[in-house]
Amino acid sequence: MENNSYNPFEAARKQFDKAADLLGLNKAAKDFLRSPVREFHFSIPVRMDDGSKKIFKAFRIHHNDARGPAKGGIRFHPMETVDTVRALSMWMTWKTSVVDIPLGGGKGGVICDPHNLSMFEQEQICRGWVRQIVKNIGPYSDIPAPDVMTSPQHMLWMLDEYETIAGGKFPGTITGKPLGMGGSEGRTEATGYGVIIALREALRELKIKPEITTASIQGFGNVSQYAIELYEKIGGKVICVSSWDNNDKKSYAFRKKEGVNLKELREISDTFGGIDKNKAQDLGYELLDGEKWIEQETDILIPAALENQITKNNIDKVNQRVKIIAEGANGPTSPEADTLLNKKDILIIPDFLANAGGVICSYFEQVQNNMNYYWSKDEVLSKLDMKMTNAYASVSNFSKQNNVNLRDAAYLISVNRVANACQSRGWI
Ligand code: NAD
Repeated sequence: MENNSYNPFEAARKQFDKAADLLGLNKAAKDFLRSPVREFHFSIPVRMDDGSKKIFKAFRIHHNDARGPAKGGIRFHPMETVDTVRALSMWMTWKTSVVDIPLGGGKGGVICDPHNLSMFEQEQICRGWVRQIVKNIGPYSDIPAPDVMTSPQHMLWMLDEYETIAGGKFPGTITGKPLGMGGSEGRTEATGYGVIIALREALRELKIKPEITTASIQGFGNVSQYAIELYEKIGGKVICVSSWDNNDKKSYAFRKKEGVNLKELREISDTFGGIDKNKAQDLGYELLDGEKWIEQETDILIPAALENQITKNNIDKVNQRVKIIAEGANGPTSPEADTLLNKKDILIIPDFLANAGGVICSYFEQVQNNMNYYWSKDEVLSKLDMKMTNAYASVSNFSKQNNVNLRDAAYLISVNRVANACQSRGWI
């Protein structure tokens, strides 16, 4: 869903302003938290495979580090903008706060399209990115991680460059590393699984058995695939997924009313989570326009692709049967659409709560790096389940006690924690 006038940073600020007013924050606190504490904008020169030189624009933004080092992913995306990175860094601050881990919020991005870059060129971008920011990242200041179109391999190249310059081994500098190279068991699954743990808790409260529910999901990348995996394990049925087709430069939705088959879809998708439309049709999937994912007659919608996908322009297409929207992606619902959805009595599990599993596991990864002792997958996933379940319960209890929706409850809890940390440090 494209909307050229949408600015994610304005949306993030609007959400923050509402929470700040409800909390009665003073002007200094509002001014401080409405903007990132520091920003880095830089250019990365890369020698391309054909011998030419190309310059890539890149960013790293620290929104807030009062509760601990800035933490957040790095995106590679051709449409990346500084305001998207600002918004994502602010959402990271609220995310680490709402799940109560001792980290702040940051985000990074490089304007590039990995679809059109060789692995060697991508490695140069990763190493160049670290060379530009090396003094301002590290286990005690800012800890990057993967995000859209970046992977454990990208993280390892970045770590390798950092350690080469720093002259030592500092695995806690970056999370989302490959297993055996300082990565944590369960990190790949963590975000998608976390979305479903939050959804499971919401269904439990609504007294709906997962076994009788169906879902439609936007995206078929890291978050979506593992969300499908756990949702199926708890008994749910996904009947529609959508993904981006880079050849046609448009998205498609793939529907199978008896339930999509995760394994076969994985086999026919590329490393960017793009599903092969011809092979999908051969396997009996109905091919629909990408935006149709939102119109499906399901109980649950899970946006797990990009921001600004549920807007006032398509909100009326949401089927009457939908009871829950679990926001796997960051910022998938525009503020206007959010207001309209609340009037429809749809429970929205807000992004920075629903998709916090990734950063929780990143935190576990850092803890393991610091101990130089690694937990089993079961141990990591059970700790993840506990953290997500507790966070969901505290947001849900707050929402009931104060008669506010889940997003407002999550904002009030998290902004309050961050404001208190800034205040006790004497910043505001
Ligand atoms: P990814 O790159 O692995 O997958 C993105 C998926 O979205 C792909 O399947 C792609 O085809 C699809 N897509 C892109 N544009 C689309 C469109 N217009 N319509 C339909 N599908 C489209 O990314 P990811 O890591 O799964 O992240 C997805 C979202 O979740 C992002 O908003 C990201 O910021 C957020 N998120 C990710 C993590 C994480 O740990 N990976 C953590 C928290 C939040």
